[in-house]
Amino acid sequence: MLLASHRDHLAALAARDRLRTLAPRRGVDFSSNDYLALAAAPRLRAAATAALERGVALGSGGSRLLRGNDPEHEALEAEGARFFGSAAALFFGSGYAANTALFAALPQAGDLLVYDSLVHASAHDGMRLGRAETVATPHNDADAVDTTVAAWRARGGTGTPWIAVESLYSMDGDRAPLADLAAVAERHDAMLVIDEAHATGVWGERGRGLADTLDGRENVITLKTFGKALGCEGALVCCSRLVRDFLVARARPFIFSTAPAPLAAAVARAALAMLADEPERRERLHALIAHASARLGPLGATVTWTQVMPLLVGDDRAALDLAVAVQRAGFDVRAIRPPTVPAGSARLRLSLTLHVGTADIDALAVAVAEARR
Ligand code: PMP
Repeated sequence: MLLASHRDHLAALAARDRLRTLAPRRGVDFSSNDYLALAAAPRLRAAATAALERGVALGSGGSRLLRGNDPEHEALEAEGARFFGSAAALFFGSGYAANTALFAALPQAGDLLVYDSLVHASAHDGMRLGRAETVATPHNDADAVDTTVAAWRARGGTGTPWIAVESLYSMDGDRAPLADLAAVAERHDAMLVIDEAHATGVWGERGRGLADTLDGRENVITLKTFGKALGCEGALVCCSRLVRDFLVARARPFIFSTAPAPLAAAVARAALAMLADEPERRERLHALIAHASARLGPLGATVTWTQVMPLLVGDDRAALDLAVAVQRAGFDVRAIRPPTVPAGSARLRLSLTLHVGTADIDALAVAVAEARR
């Protein structure tokens, strides 16, 4: 019976400590992606209220290709393209939807898609729906991307090569060698797709992301998401007009889904304005990163010089036990285990946000040291 097999599956997951359950927020935030603390910022709340008062709708009523297209979507896309420096932009309800759309629709049969071994699950899901040949390369290895594309060409590959990376890796906190990857893309006439989910708002000039100098190139596509540093939800694919037109015509998650709430677009636009107007938020976060690197690095956290500092444990059970001990001391830290991260690399994913101060970081360091003792 179907449900019996599902019950067995859950029991097997539980036996391997792999069962996922929902836990409430509790303790000082060292795990959210609300990096700039915009999610509850008074100015963003006021923007949402003002949007409602000027009549912005809570729902779009249909696909963007039908009656769901709203001036708020178009205003956000125009503003986003201007802010990020791309020729065009297309709004999706989430980064997940945008990645599945991109990777399923853009690479064609006969193309090659080379992806970093640590790209997000949403990129994998899009690739699974797509028609291109896919090849993983070792993490952050631009030379491996180069030789993989060259070998494919030598074997007679004639389509377009695509390169998929993140600019700041979600679970490792490290940065991609974007300049090298852009050079590889130029050399092979390849398209470079850069997921900036964790860089948007935090890095680059005015928070435009780590790919801020690549946006606007014909062969570069970036994904900027609103659910993390921007404190709300949704995502912009920043690209050429041609790529935008193609996605509108062919991307199934765009075509066959109710358009995001016009209110979500209005709030996202207000969050972009806050990035431009409030550079001090970024500066405060960067100062916290320096402080945390000095305090948590000696305890084993990877010093990435970004707001994501994983504390690698290895064993799943040991990571869970460490998380529970630190949680008991009053901190919201979560164990990240396979399949979210590779087998044998369970960790606490420590993230820094403006919800904490230097004293909280110092107290966390004490709690981690005690838990490990
Ligand atoms: N890409 C990366 C690298 C992510 O970390 C995430 C969110 N975990 C996504 C895409 C999906 O974005 P969203 O949360 O907006 O669906």
